[in-house]
Amino acid sequence: MTKEIKMIKDRLNELKETLNPGVELVAVSKYHPVDELQQAYDAGQRIFGESHVQELVAKEAALPKDIKWHFIGHLQTNKVKYMAPFVSLIHSVDSEKLLKEINRQAEKNGRIIDCLLQLHIAKEETKFGFTPQEVTDFLQSGEWRSQMPNVRIVGLMAMATNTDDEQQIADEFLQVKSLFDKLKNTVFASDDYFKEISMGMSGDYQIAQNCGSTMVRVGSMIFGNRDYSKPFTFQ
Ligand SMILES: *Cc1c(COP(=O)(O)O)cnc(C)c1O
Repeated sequence: MTKEIKMIKDRLNELKETLNPGVELVAVSKYHPVDELQQAYDAGQRIFGESHVQELVAKEAALPKDIKWHFIGHLQTNKVKYMAPFVSLIHSVDSEKLLKEINRQAEKNGRIIDCLLQLHIAKEETKFGFTPQEVTDFLQSGEWRSQMPNVRIVGLMAMATNTDDEQQIADEFLQVKSLFDKLKNTVFASDDYFKEISMGMSGDYQIAQNCGSTMVRVGSMIFGNRDYSKPFTFQ
């Protein structure tokens, strides 16, 4: 066993020990090569998160079939078709138009695709997502129930502001949790499947899980730093 193999496995196990019971771990493997994902797989990890469509598709083809692939990056409508046959959860649905296209591609593939609606709560212009008001209006309209039978909205996703201010991060995560609770008690009162809150990354997952996250998306803590100068390429 090489040193590298031991490291990913050990990091994964150490991380899992710090997760609250019931919190699901999405191993964010973007920019990391297939052999590193295989190491995490061999250590028992089955949920992987990717944020580029081509990279996701290439990795899905190369790795074991019982992996659950989650898409977490900004998604363009014209690329949904590539992942529709296999993607297990799309975290980053940030518009009605995108949800409609996911529904269309899911139907073509005879599937129902699980989705999270991404909320924009961070104090940063660059992050995508619905505002709390937009998400509430959209869901309360109820049109999605009849018009999009091939998508299932299973919860919310959000990213906190990239800051050292832990109170601010917690405040933002608590906003998401309170919106989730409100929706759970109204729009989704009879829908058991609406149960996920995807929030928390390497730097803030502890805060996130204390604020009600059910799913953390952790990358660099498991795989190390990403080398952005070497994007994933097809062999
Ligand atoms: C890259 C990414 C992560 C993982 O970030 P780390 O800091 O490496 O844990 C989580 N969520 C999203 C949406 C990402 O793009």
